[in-house]
Amino acid sequence: MTQNYDIIIFGGGIAGLFIASRLQRAGYNLILIEKDRLGGTQTLASQGMLHGGQKYALGGGGNHATSIAAMPARWEACFAGQGEIDLSAVKFLSAGQVMFPAGSFFSSLSVIAAAHAVRGRVQRLQRGGYPAVLQRGPVYEMQEKVLETKSLIAALAQNLKGRIFRGEVQEIAPDGRVVVSGIPLQAKAVIFTAGAGNETALSLLQIKEQHTQRRPLRQIMVKSLPQALYGHGIVGQPKPRVTVTSHPLSTGGYVWYLGGNVAEEGAKLSAAEALAFAKKEMQDIFPHLDWEQKEWASWLGDRAEPFDAEGQLPPGPYIQQRGKVLIAWPTKLTFAPALADQVFALLQERGVSPSPSTASPLLDEAEIGHYPWEEAQWQRI
Ligand SMILES: Cc1cc2nc3c(=O)[nH]c(=O)nc-3n(C[C@H](O)[C@H](O)[C@H](O)COP(=O)(O)OP(=O)(O)OC[C@H]3O[C@@H](n4cnc5c(N)ncnc54)[C@H](O)[C@@H]3O)c2cc1C
Repeated sequence: MTQNYDIIIFGGGIAGLFIASRLQRAGYNLILIEKDRLGGTQTLASQGMLHGGQKYALGGGGNHATSIAAMPARWEACFAGQGEIDLSAVKFLSAGQVMFPAGSFFSSLSVIAAAHAVRGRVQRLQRGGYPAVLQRGPVYEMQEKVLETKSLIAALAQNLKGRIFRGEVQEIAPDGRVVVSGIPLQAKAVIFTAGAGNETALSLLQIKEQHTQRRPLRQIMVKSLPQALYGHGIVGQPKPRVTVTSHPLSTGGYVWYLGGNVAEEGAKLSAAEALAFAKKEMQDIFPHLDWEQKEWASWLGDRAEPFDAEGQLPPGPYIQQRGKVLIAWPTKLTFAPALADQVFALLQERGVSPSPSTASPLLDEAEIGHYPWEEAQWQRI
């Protein structure tokens, strides 16, 4: 017996869960199918920074800086329980991020230049107000939140209780028929928000043109640091030399999770080489901290994005369509509300309207995944 739904969503990262929550609120009869664990590949591995555009205004972001600037207000309304969905249970690691010099005297000038580029949106901190691990200024603060992404995934999953299942897609047809773990299903619209798994949808639909790109990163993890830091270490180039977020350990202290240039360069190296490179960078950027008695690990993964002819960060969320199937990428966690807007607009255009719920237990429930540092293989180097 084929089961019928308004919408079937594949992929339980931020994109799928956010869109599903919005559609459920609008009364759509939907289910979400996750192949593995919720928060899956990129969302729980991300740095959880809710960008307001400041970082991208520093260079290399182009259109991104403008379009992303509208996002924080949307998220803030959700965190206050007054937005398009209820995210009042979400927790934050930090209310803001800093920009700090990550090199010689000239990097201080770069920080001042960067702050000038986004003037009015950053605030210069007094020396006594620097994060404890920073000894040298100037340091500027940007009011861009850092999320505890697991609490975000948990809040969204709570909104969707009874509608999220674990399953494997085997067949997809442009008319909305799909087979999941042997079960035939039919929907008025099928939405793929499966990150790198969107490639599966494209291949099952026999779409041959290139719609995707992957940009690898090797995030570095180091523990344990006694204090937290959330921010971007700036040198001459627009991309930060390092972007640091900090995640509390149950044993005390923090894991520092390192992105930025450290992670971009690390993706070109072996794991051992990347750790050695990261250690050298950290010794250079934070010479007053002890990097010898630490444990290190790395997470190698892809940013799965819509195709950009120059292989750069695409300007914003994107949807590819084939019949009743929408294949969607948020491009950034921060862009999830904008991607949901695009989905809504397409459903309205196609006259897909909500009908009474028939969601019933179908498969096992999907569970929430792990942070990279919870599964890392730690080593001393
Ligand atoms: C290291 C890193 C740091 C980042 N930092 C930030 C940041 O600070 N701020 C920001 O805004 N953005 C950040 N990003 C980008 C952001 O994480 C991603 O744009 C966003 O998480 C993508 O969400 P998604 O739901 O599309 O994909 P994912 O989070 O990858 O979720 C896709 C889900 O689909 C599932 N899946 C795969 N195949 C199938 C299938 N066939 N059927 C069903 N399910 C399937 C996967 O298991 C997974 O759970 C970062 C990305 C990376 C990699």
